[in-house]
Amino acid sequence: MLLDKIRIKSAPLKAKQSPKNQSFYKGYALLVKRTLRKPLFQGFLRWLLRRENIDKSLIDEVQIKVFPFQKGNGNTLAGKWNKHHGISIFPKSYEFYRELVEKHGNGVAHSYVKCRARATLIHEILHTKYSSDEERVRRLTKRYFTLYAKDPRTEDFGSLVSTILFKG
Ligand SMILES: [Zn+2]
Repeated sequence: MLLDKIRIKSAPLKAKQSPKNQSFYKGYALLVKRTLRKPLFQGFLRWLLRRENIDKSLIDEVQIKVFPFQKGNGNTLAGKWNKHHGISIFPKSYEFYRELVEKHGNGVAHSYVKCRARATLIHEILHTKYSSDEERVRRLTKRYFTLYAKDPRTEDFGSLVSTILFKG
């Protein structure tokens, strides 16, 4: 099952990252791992794979990367899927997280990290079926994520997190 495929990909220490940042990113990766391995979410993923008729052998592994992936335009990449390497999930930057805490407080920032990880994994799983149809993948990601968030057994995210997550 997907559960056994989710692991943190340890990265070599980055010289340009301060010790404080390094420990932030390690904590972030652990939170993502715990979030994605939660039985409730795993059950949801099993349902999603069945419903979309996606062969789970297409997903070799789900790698949680410790450090952000900076795109050319300065934005960070949330995740990617590759036939040979499976799914990778990247964190938001420390600076982004600090800003979120300042604006909305710890609870929202924490919840955002968890929701972003879930939405990213849903998004990349959908890519294994719809490959480069980005628009369709985005539409379905939002639909499935909203469905998961509605489950009364999930923590209350508040609409603020969804708004930050799916803006634009
Ligand atoms: Zn995409």
